[in-house]
Amino acid sequence: MNTRAFINGQFVAGEGEIENVLNPATGETLAQVAEASAEQIVAAVQAAEAAFPQWARTPPKDRALALLRLADRIEQHGEELARLESLNCGKPYLAALNDEIPAIADVFRFFAGAARLLQGSAAGEYLPGHTSLIRRDPLGVVASIAPWNYPLMMAAWKLGPALAAGNTVVLKPSEQTPLTAIRLAELAADLFPAGVLNIVPGRGDSVGQPLISQPAVRMISLTGDVATGQKVLESAAKTLKRTHLELGGKAPVIIFDDADLDAVVEGIRTFGYYNAGQDCTAACRIYAGPKIYERFVADLASAVSGIRYGTQQMDGVEMGPLISERQRQRVASFVERASSQSHIEVVTGGRHGSGSGFFYEPTVIAGATQNDEIVRREVFGPVVSVTRFSDTEEAIRWANDSDYGLASSVWTQDVGRAARVAAELQYGCTWVNTHFMLVSEMPHGGMKKSGYGKDMSVYAVEDYTAVRHVMIKH
Ligand code: NAD
Repeated sequence: MNTRAFINGQFVAGEGEIENVLNPATGETLAQVAEASAEQIVAAVQAAEAAFPQWARTPPKDRALALLRLADRIEQHGEELARLESLNCGKPYLAALNDEIPAIADVFRFFAGAARLLQGSAAGEYLPGHTSLIRRDPLGVVASIAPWNYPLMMAAWKLGPALAAGNTVVLKPSEQTPLTAIRLAELAADLFPAGVLNIVPGRGDSVGQPLISQPAVRMISLTGDVATGQKVLESAAKTLKRTHLELGGKAPVIIFDDADLDAVVEGIRTFGYYNAGQDCTAACRIYAGPKIYERFVADLASAVSGIRYGTQQMDGVEMGPLISERQRQRVASFVERASSQSHIEVVTGGRHGSGSGFFYEPTVIAGATQNDEIVRREVFGPVVSVTRFSDTEEAIRWANDSDYGLASSVWTQDVGRAARVAAELQYGCTWVNTHFMLVSEMPHGGMKKSGYGKDMSVYAVEDYTAVRHVMIKH
């Protein structure tokens, strides 16, 4: 297993501290990864800076070809990548293989196409005797910082638009899940000129912070916690770097009395607990209509209690463990504080799961009210709260009464109501009668403390480029 940093087209042993990388389903050490040292971080940024002019000038069709070839290799090595990802994250192997790998390959294919289709204003004579035209140019070195919940997918979301647009990248994967990003670099090594793609493993303070502080870094892209986003902004402010922040979420799910309840229960069972709820769009904050509330809580509890959790390759496994013991303690403490309140009922789950890994039972919390911590703060675990609302205005008000603004969903059979409520929600995405479905053509990104900047879609390519005006005097 390769655990080395990838700098200037070479794999090099990290010269920093050693990190133990775990298998969260057993708690055992999977690999030891040495962090990149301060000198290696500088070397990676210098390599990316040196590679930039040539990569920026490489015709879009050739940049696209490299991305298309990378997509092919991801598919060819899909089983191996899915195995590695599931081992390192604890997630079910088949979910990684069937849900994530095809989507990751598609992200690179989408951006390969997008690289060739940038659009803008028409050139023209807006001042007599002068022709103006608009260019969309890459920025330079992008420092990309990824989280642990979907390591390879997040690497794809960051590398796809950045490389397609002609930037060069230094990617820091999460210290907890660096293995698939390093393997991706192996698969990409001969497809891109040296220095275009660099990987520096390590922690946020020892590797992430020095990386984003490098003067030659022109843009910082982070997917992570709100607090990390604030630190990134403070650091970026010193040198006025462009930032792209995908932070947390607390997705509201409004279920009206006329919704197809069986479909809703099936949907929340899936989208509330996918990736053990470690998902910034997880369907975790339910507002249920007054007439269906009781039946919905009962049906959801029954459905969720049947979710099969276990190790990556267990027969029929639907949900894995949390990423770490620390994350499990965090989730457990949210549930303990919630259940100590008399109006709240833990209707299913609420305990550590069996096994030596960091398992936590899929949990439904009923009777939660708008000001409860469990309704307001991101848990990032397999915990869904249900709150009863009395009318449409209250549901919209409560849904919008949040620090976060990433994802939301509305469940109703009345298309007019769906359209009206969707228009009033302050979220980067609103799904109607579904949740969590993503496509490479459509943007993913937040409002409020969920951050700003879009992943995927042409909007991501715009985020990773600068609009420039060229004026020619005749
Ligand atoms: P985190 O913020 O702890 O870590 C994210 C990354 O930032 C890691 O690689 C970490 O090493 C790095 N980091 C930490 N401190 C840093 C610093 N000072 N400078 C530079 N880098 C630093 O988040 P996490 O625990 O890995 O991931 C979970 C969080 O990510 C959740 O809050 C979740 O909602 C969010 N998330 C958001 C999205 C989205 O699209 N909005 C997607 C996935 C995860």
